[in-house]
Amino acid sequence: MWMAVAASVITFLVTLAATELVEAGSSPVAATPALTFEDAGVDVPTLSRRCDKALETARSFADAIRATAPASIDELLTRVNDIDVALGVGAFASLLSEVHPDEKMRDAATSCYLGIDQFATRLYLDRAFYERSAAFGTAAAADRLAQRRYEKLLEDFERSGIGLATAELRGHAQSISDEIDELSTNFSHKLASDTRTFSCAADDADTLAGLDPAFVAAHTTDGVVTITTDYPDTTHVYKYGRSAELRRTMYGLSRSRGAPENLATLQRVLELRWEWAQLLGWPHYAAYATATKMIGTAEHADTFTRGVANITAAAAEEETERLRRLKRADLGLAEGAPVDIEAYDWSYYATQLRAREYALNATELSHYFRYENAREGVLRAAARLFHLRFERRTGVPTWHEAVEVYDVFWASGGDGGGGDSDAGGGGGPIGRIYLDMHPRADKYKHAAQFTVRDGVAGVQLPEGCLVTNFPLEGPMEHSQVTTFFHEFGHLMHHVVGGQGQRWKLFSGVATEWDFVEAPSQMLEEWALDEETLRSFATHDATGAPIPRELLAALRRAAVFGRAVSTRQQMYYAQVSLQLHMRDPTVPGFDAEAVAAELAAAFSPYPPVGGFTHFVANFGHLMGYSAIYYTYMWSEAIAQAMLQPFKRAGFYDPSTSLRYRDLVLRPGGALPAASLLYSFLGEPPSLDALHRWLRGGE
Ligand SMILES: [Zn+2]
Repeated sequence: MWMAVAASVITFLVTLAATELVEAGSSPVAATPALTFEDAGVDVPTLSRRCDKALETARSFADAIRATAPASIDELLTRVNDIDVALGVGAFASLLSEVHPDEKMRDAATSCYLGIDQFATRLYLDRAFYERSAAFGTAAAADRLAQRRYEKLLEDFERSGIGLATAELRGHAQSISDEIDELSTNFSHKLASDTRTFSCAADDADTLAGLDPAFVAAHTTDGVVTITTDYPDTTHVYKYGRSAELRRTMYGLSRSRGAPENLATLQRVLELRWEWAQLLGWPHYAAYATATKMIGTAEHADTFTRGVANITAAAAEEETERLRRLKRADLGLAEGAPVDIEAYDWSYYATQLRAREYALNATELSHYFRYENAREGVLRAAARLFHLRFERRTGVPTWHEAVEVYDVFWASGGDGGGGDSDAGGGGGPIGRIYLDMHPRADKYKHAAQFTVRDGVAGVQLPEGCLVTNFPLEGPMEHSQVTTFFHEFGHLMHHVVGGQGQRWKLFSGVATEWDFVEAPSQMLEEWALDEETLRSFATHDATGAPIPRELLAALRRAAVFGRAVSTRQQMYYAQVSLQLHMRDPTVPGFDAEAVAAELAAAFSPYPPVGGFTHFVANFGHLMGYSAIYYTYMWSEAIAQAMLQPFKRAGFYDPSTSLRYRDLVLRPGGALPAASLLYSFLGEPPSLDALHRWLRGGE
């Protein structure tokens, strides 16, 4: 039932947006002349100069808009676009602040992008600028893309509160917004600094059973073992700790972080967001937050998460029952005896099940993945899939000698065979990518794609950077290879979607928040594709390609646990949504009670009793507010987009070319639902996600 309802949600969205398809897709932008690349090897004075100049330029354009009314929407937009382009140096500075080895440079880069952020924020709260922009009323722009750009501009203003009628209301909106920012920061800081610990004697064999002796040794001081709630510690305990009591204790400590302070902070944030929504005319904050997303409304988000929870129910129960069998054997209980898999049991028994039933030999696997071959594999796959060519550049100045630089070309020198080339430049590069892939001191600790420059037609080519912490030497984990494909997906979206864009706002990965992960989530499947893996995953000693049996085990093991973790995600999504749909100002409203009520309906685990305070450490309530559903929504879309590839082949040239040109290339110039509809030719449903959860093809 829910499945049918949820599927029709996607259908509904796509049908709405499909009307925009024909017109918007048919306005190619003028050919791009040969353009130069960013100088990525800057020093402090150069960066500061560039930054000052960007602010000066942006300020003068903004002043010009305030001083003289633009004659037309297009003139207004051109000036706004000039401001956007000038402020683009902020993205590059933000990258340098995360990766530059020199502290002075990181500081200069930080103050650069903060200054630019502040300028941009103030600009969208500037009443005079707003009035100039809104003055065109219902007049139409010159073309569909300009019209879309204009609507986005007005939308940004309206959503910032600057469109409110009186100065008093605007001031009130500003104070709410400021207080939310401050409280969000407090919530995150409290969480980051609240590490809790458990201690026991180093000879307490019962408590420490199953843990790696090296792990125990590393956590022992003066005969006392201290384990913290930091991720590497809890992950190890959940996976290997034989003592259920230890796992339960660590779970309780971990899930109580932030309390009690963050409970009060959260309550205040929910009240302020409620007030904000009312002030701007929305029924609740979830409505405000979903309005600019593909999903459109809070009700659709609710239906979608319920639908996904529903299609996972049977598979999650099957997965759990397999673990119950292990737990019964472990506890010496009879077959069929009632036993629960608790939240702190899952990882422990799943680890055992993976080792026993999937014969996935991690040591054997580690012989096949190294950075060099993974990079060649990813580049080759991307070149075939997106019809591109990568040319290594040496001697290009960057922020560190470990950074690898490639220029990107259409494979055919034109546009890769699509027939509607706007590539121009006589087959010259269409963009540049930087790979900063290995760990070093003072470098960003996660994996992400950063913008160096957005592509803007006739102005600048797209340049992007991947930042990861993969080992330079020695084995790579398969999960890191998957991450490589994922992040490379964002990079390709940035480059391909940065072609021929007149408006910087639409360049590259500029699609809706709940779509933007889909192309990368889809590309993760190439990290499990036999042809792809056998083309690069070779044995470090023999050079033989990865055996088919090992690959099959890898694929089977990847499927186990998908249903339970998806169900868990839907629980989180419901908490995020419902806390922002219900009125937090009514007497008796209690975020913890809401979370407990939803746990009963959605969580794959039985309630753990009153010793945790999950909402005090659910950090995404700040950044995502009501829209934690987005990850699974984009996964559903990723699986739907994968279907044509599964039918025609992962490297079928016409499917991949259509995908590149219809889904990636428009960037944000079209609503994501339109991109999806034009590629699939039919409304997607949840069927593909359902099959993925069950490991089906
Ligand atoms: Zn991503």
